[in-house]
Amino acid sequence: MVILHHLPRLHSSIFLTKTPFLYTHFNLLPKPKLPTKTTSILFSALNSTLSATSEPIPIPTHNLDIPEETHVPISIEKLFVPPDTDVSSDTAASLSTRILKGSNIVLSKYARDAQVSQADFVKSSVDTQACPSDGLPEFALVGRSNVGKSSLLNSIVRRKKLALTSKKPGKTQCINHFRINDSWYLVDLPGYGYAAAPHELRIDWEKFTKDYFLNRSTLVSVFLLIDASIPAKKIDLEYASWLGENQVPMTLVFTKCDKRKKRKNGGKRPEENVNDFQELIRGFFQTAPPWIMTSSVTNQGRDEILLHMAQLRNYWLKH
Ligand code: GDP
Repeated sequence: MVILHHLPRLHSSIFLTKTPFLYTHFNLLPKPKLPTKTTSILFSALNSTLSATSEPIPIPTHNLDIPEETHVPISIEKLFVPPDTDVSSDTAASLSTRILKGSNIVLSKYARDAQVSQADFVKSSVDTQACPSDGLPEFALVGRSNVGKSSLLNSIVRRKKLALTSKKPGKTQCINHFRINDSWYLVDLPGYGYAAAPHELRIDWEKFTKDYFLNRSTLVSVFLLIDASIPAKKIDLEYASWLGENQVPMTLVFTKCDKRKKRKNGGKRPEENVNDFQELIRGFFQTAPPWIMTSSVTNQGRDEILLHMAQLRNYWLKH
């Protein structure tokens, strides 16, 4: 059994504030961008390794509705410890009970009020200035087209068709705000990487979403959705590294974790793709960003996402 205080002290990777300079308070210092060549070498050389510099912490296996083999052992330095959370006196066993299942996220005292009792579409905005100005904290969902964003949004709010609102013609390229429990927002951003989208539209999208990420003072965290049923895509890696380099707080949400490829066909299991993705983006983050595995088919990760959002939100509201 590993006693944690023998190991290097964990540092919380984020410090959220409500100031317009939100991102400068994050402990995610930009690192030099790897040249594209290096990225592609990494891509091919990668062999789903989680570094074993310290004893891995097994994710608790009790009470789970996902196969045991999907549990990823996580070394201590790869955990996400929320701000204002001390783990120095935890043993490996006690710490492992505080990790949200299927994630690297440690639960903090701020994880409360995680239920969704009400969800309403509020508005579609064409730019950051047009977004709601009531100061409520928000989380933005973004990902490649077809990653499962609408399905996840519906799963989180337990409504079958809420996210259809964002798929209506004219709204797919907008910032769509959904108010939850009259106290915070889920924000649906346009999907990227849609090959058929006209060039001008893509440029325009880049401009306004980047502006939103950099200037929306009530944005608590971006939730970047990545399809875990397929190997990492270059565009996803670029997106994650852009967020890291710009110190935009980010949570990686791995989708479609119920899809299990046949190994004999060369397919990797979702948890292997999850590990690979971590390795590929590691150079862009000083500390490990939070990540979580989900499925809109089995609802894996739904409650965990809500608890994670709750702890980030409650901390943000208090500081
Ligand atoms: P969006 O374009 O990102 O909004 O993606 P959608 O939510 O519309 O989903 C795209 C496709 O992926 C649809 O065919 C969904 O049924 C499928 N899908 C979405 N989430 C999951 C999931 O968790 N598991 C599986 N197996 N399929 C999913």
